[in-house]
Amino acid sequence: MRTNMKELREQAVEHLGWEKRDPKRYNLDGIIRDAWLNGDGSDETWKAAVEKHYRRFVIGDWVRVTVAVEDDFTEHHYGRITWFVKAGGGAYRGQPAKPHSACVELPHCPEWWGRLSELTPALDDFEIVREWEKIHRDSLNHRFHCLRCTSAYSYKSAEVMIVHKHSGLRVRLCEDCFDNEELASLGHDVLFHERGCRDTILELRANPELITGPRDGRSGVRSAGESYRYWADTFPWMVPATAAELYAQWQGARNAGAA
Ligand SMILES: [Zn+2]
Repeated sequence: MRTNMKELREQAVEHLGWEKRDPKRYNLDGIIRDAWLNGDGSDETWKAAVEKHYRRFVIGDWVRVTVAVEDDFTEHHYGRITWFVKAGGGAYRGQPAKPHSACVELPHCPEWWGRLSELTPALDDFEIVREWEKIHRDSLNHRFHCLRCTSAYSYKSAEVMIVHKHSGLRVRLCEDCFDNEELASLGHDVLFHERGCRDTILELRANPELITGPRDGRSGVRSAGESYRYWADTFPWMVPATAAELYAQWQGARNAGAA
């Protein structure tokens, strides 16, 4: 039987489209071979072929890499995959089905390369919220504006909210301003906050009880303990585990005392 690959590819793209899948993330020839040429063309065969020939990463994808730095700190950096690297070095022609490693261009770090298993799709770190109620809930006048458009004369309402899951930091944007670079930018805001807090984290790792230090009775003066607590309220995701536990106990005791 003579098969016309061009037609089969068009059919495969159409099928993937019905399933709301992005054809660029699939090895079409592999799917055609397994599902239609060698397979029986059933739904099960198609499903198995589609799963087998899915590409988790393609060039241009925004990903997160974890970089180890001094004092047991790690940094999350976001960037784009620029090319795939063969096991012996060197680039592939086209989009490989199973690339060995990837090269990622990072805005705030030297270029990174490593195994694909070390990459996380940037989108996995964020929640994308489009429900109006949720986006505007904390606004005093029930309407947040797009963070990027507010300098212009047209005050566009926020239509999408990006939440960095780990820290809870968020930005609100209109659909026109929302893109993957905004995810990376918010991720890097978190990174810069974390860099700026390393001394405090080290202090609380070494002496977690500092967080329950006494108040300074004088008005307008913040004691060391109060400063640590103020910091912990601002950046709750950074508080070292033992200090967080002590702080929770301290709050519990204070609330019991007030009741
Ligand atoms: Zn905007």
